[in-house]
Amino acid sequence: MTESYDDWDLATRAIRAGHNRTAEGEHSEPIFTTSSFVFQSAAEAAARFSGDEPGNIYSRFTNPTVACFEERLAALEGGESCVATSSGMAAILATCMALLKSGDHIVSSRSIFGTTNVLFNKFLAKMGIETSYVALSNLADWEAAIRPNTRILYAETPSNPITEVGDIRALADLAHSHGLLLVVDNCFCTPVLQQPLALGADIVIHSATKYLDGQGRCVGGAVVGDKKWVGEEVFGFLRSAGVTMSPFNAWVFLKGLETLQLRMNAHSENALALALWLEQLDKVERVHYPGLKSHPQYELATRQQRSAGGIVSFVVKGGREQAWKVIDATRMLSITANLGDTKTTITHPASTTHGRLTDEEKQSAGIEEGLIRMSVGLEAIDDIKHDLASGLVD
Ligand SMILES: *Cc1c(COP(=O)(O)O)cnc(C)c1O
Repeated sequence: MTESYDDWDLATRAIRAGHNRTAEGEHSEPIFTTSSFVFQSAAEAAARFSGDEPGNIYSRFTNPTVACFEERLAALEGGESCVATSSGMAAILATCMALLKSGDHIVSSRSIFGTTNVLFNKFLAKMGIETSYVALSNLADWEAAIRPNTRILYAETPSNPITEVGDIRALADLAHSHGLLLVVDNCFCTPVLQQPLALGADIVIHSATKYLDGQGRCVGGAVVGDKKWVGEEVFGFLRSAGVTMSPFNAWVFLKGLETLQLRMNAHSENALALALWLEQLDKVERVHYPGLKSHPQYELATRQQRSAGGIVSFVVKGGREQAWKVIDATRMLSITANLGDTKTTITHPASTTHGRLTDEEKQSAGIEEGLIRMSVGLEAIDDIKHDLASGLVD
């Protein structure tokens, strides 16, 4: 953060942090669509390149619109530095490339975003970086998996799709007692619902594609943390590798951040209402939602998160056949794997997002054949229920 926003509440930071108004006096943040920047003199150019003087050089690694987004997100997460990236996956890759080297080891929660699994198991493995997977909510499992060459603990909470919740403070304490860094993918909660850095995490990762945009328009990501690991190391990777966010996308995400708190509260409210309704239907076997008293980590979720978020999943009786029937009976809901949109989405994880897992992996991740995942949007809750009822209520 170039400025301190300590006096401002989250809602104010989301709307005003990061914008250094230009001489034109613009009210809304401008989009700087320029690849390079001009210097006053050869000496100024030299000072910028050497890092002796701050300022813009080239939009692969310095752009005012992107910088505005970075400063605003850093202010929301309570981090010293933020690096915006071309996607959420690019944020994860940049973090791994900055923190890890050949021979290092990652301990990760088992139910992480599917493509993160592929990145770890296929590409990092090829570079000699090994990953062990553990149950997110089982601290003893995490501790037992730590080896002398372990470098980071990697967690996603709540997990996708069954919304298991991990104790960020306990994981941070465990990481630090072994000299490790804790990396948390905060995509599902956003800083509105949970601030991992304040709970002791070292690095926060975002897929801005989801709730930060919130309206399903752009792909982007970000890494937030301290000056050393993020401001220098992750930034250094971005500068060399070019996994850069475009100024236009940064502007869309800035506009998204301005309504983030309102949207997250509304997502949580709709999702809780839907989860409570689902829980009392005969055709529903089980509902996974951290805001339900029946959730195994309800107490922890209530303590750690401001509300339970927009992702609800549930198991219907009758396996895949019945789950597909419920999905196909809807008329309004979007059958798509994306999440974090104003539009409610519905997915069958076992045959889509988690279709590449083996039966054994599906079982340990709780991906049953009857499981349906919903990203609850901001339509009227009665309309969402009505659409789902076609296949769920006789
Ligand atoms: C979507 C997602 C990602 C990857 O982000 P992209 O922007 O699609 O690259 C990473 N983590 C989680 C939890 C996600 O939902």
